[in-house]
Amino acid sequence: MNKKRKSHLKGLLVSIIIVLLIIIILLFNAKNILLMNVDVNNSTKNLIKQKLSINDIMMLRKSKIYDIDSKLVLSDIEKEISLDDYNFSNQEMYSNISLLGATNQSMIVKKANEYLEEGYSIKDIKNISNDSDKKAYFVKLIDKGIYNQANAKLVLNPSDNLAIANYENSIYNYQPSNLVKVTNVPTIDNSTYYLKDDAYQALEKMCSGIEKEFGSNCGSMVLTSAYRSYDEQEKLYNELIAEDKENISIVQPPGESEHQLGNSIDFALSYVKQEDYGNTEQFKWVKEHAADYGFIIRYPENKEDITKIEYEPWHLRYVGIDIAKDITSKGLCLEEYVKTTK
Ligand SMILES: [Zn+2]
Repeated sequence: MNKKRKSHLKGLLVSIIIVLLIIIILLFNAKNILLMNVDVNNSTKNLIKQKLSINDIMMLRKSKIYDIDSKLVLSDIEKEISLDDYNFSNQEMYSNISLLGATNQSMIVKKANEYLEEGYSIKDIKNISNDSDKKAYFVKLIDKGIYNQANAKLVLNPSDNLAIANYENSIYNYQPSNLVKVTNVPTIDNSTYYLKDDAYQALEKMCSGIEKEFGSNCGSMVLTSAYRSYDEQEKLYNELIAEDKENISIVQPPGESEHQLGNSIDFALSYVKQEDYGNTEQFKWVKEHAADYGFIIRYPENKEDITKIEYEPWHLRYVGIDIAKDITSKGLCLEEYVKTTK
């Protein structure tokens, strides 16, 4: 090899080393460089460096991906990134919840994580802004809770066949659109009740079934409750609280009662006390056949730890025949079943 060639090679080697060094220095400082003109304070910058990948920071710089004001994203990050359950990939959800007016940052992060886990999308959250009632309720639930609903989330699709209203899921002042008056099923003291049309049709058929077995009108079964509006539930709840604080555990706050969904009934034997109904032949029949008509016993025995409601043999919920059969044969409560469908 001649001298000229050798010195050429040497030069090339030196250049490669220099380039490699520059790349290494850039990589080590990539986060610093990317954050150079990002408008957040230094402690937030440090947290961003700790918690976010280079790729995350690049996404953050192009806040346009959020389809919302980048200033808002940055001010949210400042307040939220120090929280333990903060997750950058959920940032867009956090910011959209802020946009609706919620201000309790730790609750925004907590609830946004839960909404996403349950399969709700950012679009669902954005849609809330179209309904001012729903929006106000949503923000209240995030910021301070309502009644004992500090941990409740808003049910975004309460008209869904499998919607759950309980201590964790509030249906706000939702009112079903397809309520019909109950006319062909006996009601206690001839009370006026309303149900969603599909639940009512199923109930009529079930009554015929009971009548075939036990005779008399609907086998002497009567409706003792059906659809209950938010206002009615609120009244009931406040009355019971005024009477006896202990009673709070047996009545759900407004927005948390399954009766507000319009597809639940209390169905019992007219001449038997409610607490004895579970031992009657009629109940045995209902337990065996309710699913054939699309109903489930919503608060079964041995599921109290999940439903947080005592065993209620009289409370039935309409979910449709196929689902009712599936739930009943598997021995699940609705909360468990809904989880298996996700
Ligand atoms: Zn009930």
